[in-house]
Amino acid sequence: MQNQSLYSQLHISSEVLSFGNAVWASLSDRFQKIDEVSEYNQLKVIKAMQDNRVSEACMLGTTGYGYNDLGRDTLEKVYASVFHTEDALVRPQITCGTHALALALMSNLRPGDELLSPVGKPYDTLEEVIGIRPSRGSLAEYGITYRQVDLKEDGSFDYDGIRSAINEKTKLVTIQRSKGYQTRPSFGVDQIGQLIAFIRNEKPELTVMVDNCYGEFVEEKEPSDCGADIVVGSLIKNIGGGLSPIGGYLAGKKECIENAAVRLTSPGLGKEVGASLEVLRSLYQGLFFAPNVTANALKTAIFAANIYEKLGFDVIPNAKEERHDIIQAITFGTPEGLCGFCEGIQKASPVDGFVKPEPWDMPGYDSKVIMAAGAFISGSSIELSADGPMREPYAAYFQGGLTWQHGKLGILSSLQALVEKGIVTL
Ligand SMILES: *Cc1c(COP(=O)(O)O)cnc(C)c1O
Repeated sequence: MQNQSLYSQLHISSEVLSFGNAVWASLSDRFQKIDEVSEYNQLKVIKAMQDNRVSEACMLGTTGYGYNDLGRDTLEKVYASVFHTEDALVRPQITCGTHALALALMSNLRPGDELLSPVGKPYDTLEEVIGIRPSRGSLAEYGITYRQVDLKEDGSFDYDGIRSAINEKTKLVTIQRSKGYQTRPSFGVDQIGQLIAFIRNEKPELTVMVDNCYGEFVEEKEPSDCGADIVVGSLIKNIGGGLSPIGGYLAGKKECIENAAVRLTSPGLGKEVGASLEVLRSLYQGLFFAPNVTANALKTAIFAANIYEKLGFDVIPNAKEERHDIIQAITFGTPEGLCGFCEGIQKASPVDGFVKPEPWDMPGYDSKVIMAAGAFISGSSIELSADGPMREPYAAYFQGGLTWQHGKLGILSSLQALVEKGIVTL
């Protein structure tokens, strides 16, 4: 019971703590299943490191052109082994998830080609990459067209719509695994596999890319195990394990990765250049931690879903549902609810815990966004963080938690904030 005193020093009341503990006690079966997936993925990562002979020398970086960067080249082999793909591009020069996705699209599409999203509107920042919102340098400016088939009312794939959208120009299909800032469900890997099989049946030569952000290590399989030609993500989400300070990855078919490499660096140079400076140790160690960190983030998400559903809020995924990513959406319906939740998360942070988050205009987003993030790595969303666009239905999207214990504190702190504002009564 010494915890109780520390919780109280961290401004969690005994009512909020016992409410949370009662919910936690009901989750042991689910937590055990998460640990089993995490165990599998941990073994998969260690095996990939051993198979590719990761050594002490791999931790050292290079400078300048980065020729013969053993650590970089080996890390890319490790990623390819983890995703069971022919090749991978894993670089600190890929600045974020959006950059990785833009790179995959811009390098694998040519003028006159068409891009298809069969799962509705993609992540906000991709609207400018594609040119759905006119933007300098977009795919649209290069004469690459875009078509989208929305999900059906019930969240399922509109197979008829997809069939008629595929035409002679269609070259690349993009599938976003995680819901991002939407209230649709996230897709399971098997579900994505069924969609890919359908698409291949319609036009076998299509390239299928999966935006894997927030999905890595949530299941035992990855989309590349179910037919995706390229999977793409950010190293400051799941797969960076909280330690990667920067970076993005693409894993997939040799040809697709080579296209991306010559676009990232230069035609003729491709993967041969790109010094990894001092970051390799963090990228390796982050990957090593990632299965466990992802498990902690999942536990935190499930804990929150159960708390807030019990209090009558709309939560996606719901308290019982199977998980396909680490994102939890909670619909507060009011700006005060959304802001209160984010303030509580912030207050529980190890870094910047004294700061009060405010909504602001963010590059790449079309409405103000409030963000709570007290992270060691700036902007890292595998660390406990919450954000939400300041628009109806005022949903908070939160994710992360490097440790379950911190995740628990963060959710309790959000609840405490809402109780103190009179938005929630226990
Ligand atoms: C985070 C995310 C992105 C963009 O990644 P950034 O690193 O924020 O640029 C793209 N798609 C999805 C589904 C994401 O979750």
